[in-house]
Amino acid sequence: MPNILLHACCGPCSLMPLVRLRDEGWEPTLFWFNPNIHPADEWLKRRDALREVAAKFKVSLVELGDVPDPAAWVRGLGGETEFGKRCTLCYRPRMLKTAEIAAAQGFDAFTSTLLYSKYQNHESIVQEAEAGAARFGSRFLYRDFRPFWWDGITMSKELGIYRQKWCGCILSMKEALAQQKEAEQRKAAQKAERAARLAAEEEARKRKKEALAAKQAEKEQKRRERLARKSSTLQTTDSTAAE
Ligand code: SF4
Repeated sequence: MPNILLHACCGPCSLMPLVRLRDEGWEPTLFWFNPNIHPADEWLKRRDALREVAAKFKVSLVELGDVPDPAAWVRGLGGETEFGKRCTLCYRPRMLKTAEIAAAQGFDAFTSTLLYSKYQNHESIVQEAEAGAARFGSRFLYRDFRPFWWDGITMSKELGIYRQKWCGCILSMKEALAQQKEAEQRKAAQKAERAARLAAEEEARKRKKEALAAKQAEKEQKRRERLARKSSTLQTTDSTAAE
């Protein structure tokens, strides 16, 4: 059975690539190398989730690197902090290292769970992987795992694998937190708007009710006045008749 080194960004993204590669007859070995996941406890959580996946699937796991230094990584971007552009610089060391280890340890091929994500720049990952393969003389196995996106999500939930809330680096964390804050503010504004609308509707209903009650009171008053006038006319007629 040919063996393959599967670079893994996290536990949930590893599930379907593992399933698909095994279905094709490959014997995968997971490779943990993610030098910019932030903060440290997030890096540890994702690594531990991958260990869990390795144990569940009974596959070997190669781990490389320690808790990353986010400041050093941002410095390494040389100012290219924009989402998308910085991501190419993020795939590069991962793919290079995977290609290098695949060659050094005699794997038949290598690939990456990054090819499972709908949010990554697929073409850029492929380019970086091919460049790594060319440099180290290993074979990159291209697979598009994205069609299995929902199967992976379902499986990760069923297996209870830790699911992260941001892509990985400190910048993606800040962006995710800002988006979350924005969403919360939008939700709060919508809630306040709805409350104000309901209060205005309630006030309008109250005014309508009061206006109706005033109109009825006025009508009743007029009716009483009419009755009083009628009764007074009758009394005058009676006393005139008696005389
Ligand atoms: S957003 Fe994700 S892919 Fe892009 S640089 Fe950050 S960790 Fe890497």
